[in-house]
Amino acid sequence: MSNPSGQRPVFRFAPSPNGALHLGHALSACLNFEAAHQTGGRFLLRIEDIDLTRCTAELERGIYEDLAWLGLDWERPVRRQSEHFGDYRAELERLIEDGLVYPAFMTRGEVKAHVADTEKSGKLWPRDPDGAPLYPPYDRERSQTEREKLIASGKRHAFRLDMQKALARLSAPLTFVETGDGQTGTITADPARWGDVILSRSDAPSSYHLSVVVDDALQGVTHVIRGLDLYAATDLHRLLQYLLGLPEPLYRHHRLVLGADGRKLSKSEGSTALGALREEGLTPSAIRAIIGL
Ligand code: GLU
Repeated sequence: MSNPSGQRPVFRFAPSPNGALHLGHALSACLNFEAAHQTGGRFLLRIEDIDLTRCTAELERGIYEDLAWLGLDWERPVRRQSEHFGDYRAELERLIEDGLVYPAFMTRGEVKAHVADTEKSGKLWPRDPDGAPLYPPYDRERSQTEREKLIASGKRHAFRLDMQKALARLSAPLTFVETGDGQTGTITADPARWGDVILSRSDAPSSYHLSVVVDDALQGVTHVIRGLDLYAATDLHRLLQYLLGLPEPLYRHHRLVLGADGRKLSKSEGSTALGALREEGLTPSAIRAIIGL
């Protein structure tokens, strides 16, 4: 992978310690590590643990153990997102002050009920690339006075991006450069399909999308190598990078390692967990062979 800016390339593997690493993670981690090695670049490990209810110290320890077993080495200290909530908040504040973000009061249950209700009449509610229903427009349409009243009354709220307003800021269509296993070349991003995406939850001070772009920029990441399951999210990441004035990394989305049933591996799938395979006696080179390296 070339690096147009000429600086030393920076790669990262960014797992969430909300489950054990599986074969798909091994592929991501090895591809990043090897790309760093081949280009004289740096390899970073970032722990994406903003979801304090699902991430655990034990699973985090397991990540270090698995990666070391695979023969990978990474720079220290490791950035743990839970130690940097202030960084994500500061960027969110900039978007709020810019009028691009609004407080969203509907709970997940309320959104679900609303969608089910609308679909009863035969009208299909739009969904994002991950299959989640787009957020209804009501909170976006509230007046400032109404918002302040609800917040003052103690109503819990998240913050969401006003997609239409954000898109209106673009002076040209957004693109990104992709060199992975799917469509390659200069790809036109289509962030609109994500709707008013969540940037900060009522129970977590950031979201995956916000923290990933903030950290990639703060850590000087030049190359993002990750699974094709995050390909569509790149549209949104490019939009946030544009709105926050952050640099654009190069992207490479790699094939997914599929389970025996041909479906994407999940963290709950014990049989493909690296720790379990290690205990069964598999060696790191056997793992590399299984994932096609
Ligand atoms: N933390 C994300 C995950 O475990 C990956 C983030 C990324 O590579 O952009 O799926």
